[in-house]
Amino acid sequence: MRILLVEDEHDLSSIIKKGLEEERYNVDTCFDGEDALFMSEEISYDAIILDIMLPKINGITLLRTIRSKGIATPVLMLTARDALEDKVKGLDTGADDYLTKPFEFNELLARLRALLRRNLTQRASVVKVRDLVLDTARKEARRKNVLISLTAKEYALLEYMVYNKNNVLSRTNISEHIYDSSFDLDSNVIDVFVSSLRKKLDNNHSIKLIKTVRGAGYMLTD
Ligand code: CA
Repeated sequence: MRILLVEDEHDLSSIIKKGLEEERYNVDTCFDGEDALFMSEEISYDAIILDIMLPKINGITLLRTIRSKGIATPVLMLTARDALEDKVKGLDTGADDYLTKPFEFNELLARLRALLRRNLTQRASVVKVRDLVLDTARKEARRKNVLISLTAKEYALLEYMVYNKNNVLSRTNISEHIYDSSFDLDSNVIDVFVSSLRKKLDNNHSIKLIKTVRGAGYMLTD
């Protein structure tokens, strides 16, 4: 899951980023509304955590702008204590939830999880593709009932491919969902990474789930 964190207080931003990364989220940060607008258009985030009081473009205006562009990414707004008007305005503008500062980090996590779940309502916790069974709650994958031992990143890639089965995923699509912006897009890391997942998933099975689409990327097919 890749999160955009828009918070201009650098200390708070780095605390949230660190905490989220410990929970294995990939987090990009930006510190003003202009950068946030640019990044939310460039990259398809799974959720955005958005402060209201921001330099250049405030959170409410930013949210209105991205919604008007058809970007439906779930947004968790951060509001100042007791700023009821901000909350109402935020929700009216298309925020999915809000959190009042100061907040407990655990509450941020819980609300973020709820938001991501809501966004994935069509996603059952156990997903099957032929003989592959993904338990998304336990983050486990099995083929023909045999547990496949995956790293956290391999699991994340597999889950992303399963949710997008029969769609070609470019290297950019994959890197955007699996890595944060510090990742070097020119590297062949994605190819190496897909090939290691493929080895674990498809070796020893006559049905190959991951296909290479020449010049385009990769696809998991049923
Ligand atoms: Ca602020």
